[in-house]
Amino acid sequence: MTTVLTRSGYAKPGTSLNFSTGQWRQLFRPEHSYQTAPCHGSCPAGEDPQAYLAHVQLGHYKKAWETIVDVNPIPAITGRVCPHPCEAVCNRKEYDSPLVIHAVERFLGDEAIKNNWAYPVKPVDPSAPEIAIVGAGPAGISAAYHLIKRGYRAIIFDEHPESGGTLRTALPPYRLPRSLLDAELKRVLSLDGITFNPQTRLGRDIDIHDLQEKYPAVFLGLGAQHSIEWSIDGVVPKDLHSGFELLKKWVDIGKVPTPKSVAIIGAGNTAVDMARVMKRAGVSEVHLISHKPIPKPGIPIEEAMPAIPREINEALEEGVIIHEYRGIRRLILRGERVVGVELVHMKKLMQASGRLKRVA
Ligand code: SF4
Repeated sequence: MTTVLTRSGYAKPGTSLNFSTGQWRQLFRPEHSYQTAPCHGSCPAGEDPQAYLAHVQLGHYKKAWETIVDVNPIPAITGRVCPHPCEAVCNRKEYDSPLVIHAVERFLGDEAIKNNWAYPVKPVDPSAPEIAIVGAGPAGISAAYHLIKRGYRAIIFDEHPESGGTLRTALPPYRLPRSLLDAELKRVLSLDGITFNPQTRLGRDIDIHDLQEKYPAVFLGLGAQHSIEWSIDGVVPKDLHSGFELLKKWVDIGKVPTPKSVAIIGAGNTAVDMARVMKRAGVSEVHLISHKPIPKPGIPIEEAMPAIPREINEALEEGVIIHEYRGIRRLILRGERVVGVELVHMKKLMQASGRLKRVA
């Protein structure tokens, strides 16, 4: 008979019953030390991939999904947009390559939508205290979900007509299809105990002091709406743009400025999204300038560009030119316009703290 070693099989502290240890068992007393798995420790949503992968291994998909939504109510979304730091630390990479955790998460999220699996939450007492949440992005939605799980009611206010926050306003639909976004958010927002008030803007339609008076607690899930601002001696050149703002414009009206060539600085998902959007908009030369290398065999995953590798490969296939190990020494201006950039090679230097940092 084959023994499937699931999490429950090998992770019990103080036992080695599942293993045959031979004669040396008489000499040593092996003890399992129970520690947080690296994937679990690195997941910003607090998911435990080791636990849900064990259920998947046994074919228990619904149970696996329930394990995820115990902490994260939107796995079909995070399985698509999360840069999956869990995979960067997966021990399996020491053998061959990390487990594709985000793809399993996406599959389970999609299965839940397809089969209309019910969230494991109890009905909320209609007289339970109601907590105000400002912002219907991932933070606000998640806060509402966890509140009803703990027996509270939640009322969400958002300035937009629809929920989703940045997921809807700045993520290109090719990365997060809107039908999928709508389907998953609708399932959470229709849970008993959650009320959604769209087109209600903080500072215009509602006031923070009124909220504090009316509700026992207020959660502000306003999101990271602003990019780092760049200027040269206090002057912002006319054609220096924030990637986040351009992405919002593209998603909103389907248009962005289209010069002959564009240089994008960054190595994360926003930079790669921007590069692909620029290509789609018709810019013939799109350069992506990255301190870090393209992920490939031999490059430790934590040292490579943090954007999703599949997205980087698709950007390359679409004709984006990636300049690895490069930073910007200076922008070349003509009047107020940027006409070029001077690049510098970035190398790794050990810092006094013992950490490696890329410097010019
Ligand atoms: S893909 Fe993201 S959300 Fe999902 S387990 Fe990994 S780190 Fe957590």
